[in-house]
Amino acid sequence: MTLIDNFNRKIEYLRISVTDRCNSRCKYCMPADGVEFKPHIDVLSFEEIEKIVKAFAKLGVKKIRLTGGEPLVRKNIVELVSKISKIDGIKEITMTTNGLLLKKYAKELKEAGLNRVNISIDTLNFDKYSEITRGSSLKDVLEGIDEAEKVGLAPIKLNTVLVNGFNDNEIVDLVELTKYKKFDVRFIELMTIGDTANWTRERYISNEIVLEKVKELKSVKKLDKSSPATYYQVPGYLGRVGLINPVSCGFCSDCNRVRLTSTGRLKLCLHSDVEYNLKKFLDSEETLENELVKLIKEKPEKHKLNEGVSIKKSMFQIGG
Ligand code: SAM
Ligand code: SF4
Repeated sequence: MTLIDNFNRKIEYLRISVTDRCNSRCKYCMPADGVEFKPHIDVLSFEEIEKIVKAFAKLGVKKIRLTGGEPLVRKNIVELVSKISKIDGIKEITMTTNGLLLKKYAKELKEAGLNRVNISIDTLNFDKYSEITRGSSLKDVLEGIDEAEKVGLAPIKLNTVLVNGFNDNEIVDLVELTKYKKFDVRFIELMTIGDTANWTRERYISNEIVLEKVKELKSVKKLDKSSPATYYQVPGYLGRVGLINPVSCGFCSDCNRVRLTSTGRLKLCLHSDVEYNLKKFLDSEETLENELVKLIKEKPEKHKLNEGVSIKKSMFQIGG
């Protein structure tokens, strides 16, 4: 059995949110206060995650991304990486992290089987970083990036969410990071979702501005056709620049991914509020696999962000 949806897309990639908690408070992701996290009792245990990954792997999923919330605040996260890396059929494990704890964990993660990391970094200015994250330290992230590089969690992707009037004046500096390092610097457009919808709507800026500000950027071929980014490079630079435009829906037809929330809900599309509870199928491997094959047929053909439809949850609750 394989996971093929009604639009002939083969699902090979599962993104798992291991927690909705976070050690940071980015203004576009979480409100200043009143954030409600899921009680620990509802969060999937490692054994439950393992069962679900095994079922997906049997059905042809090869790639796992751990995210959150902040995946590195989940207790014993290294042990989870190690468990997943031993599952037959899983060829790649990656992680999206804010990097704050990466200095501490990079080596252990690599040894446990993590292949690479995407690190979020919205500014290269220490004060601005503290401002957008409501108090986190850029120094920790930079040290985390260094350590990830040192232990070979590569190629490293740096994710920058573009915020109008905040970091659009740093685009050139961020692109310059690709000059001597094989980093992919990816600019992501703000999504107006969840509790921060008003904040994000007022600060949205199209990532076309990157091409306007850095005229030297030349389009280059995508290495992975299911990647949501379109890639560019300044000739002669080692790294690449990616533009991710979630609103345009340019990549829905090549979408090969589904998501699992920290409480065991399957999300077939990031931009849909529809979720399916997998917890009730965990007693039998066979039932779980059969249900996944059935559920995958519900994956929507494309999202409706460009029709002004936005989802109720924020990224930390879904697993961005
Ligand atoms: N805590 C980790 C991190 O920040 O990398 C992983 C989870 S975070 C929700 C995943 C990604 O979602 C980050 O790159 C973050 O910048 C992005 N993100 C969060 N809210 C967003 C929004 N409203 N629009 C666009 N990207 C957003
Ligand atoms: Fe935390 Fe990541 Fe959301 Fe920032 S974007 S608040 S680091 S989950």
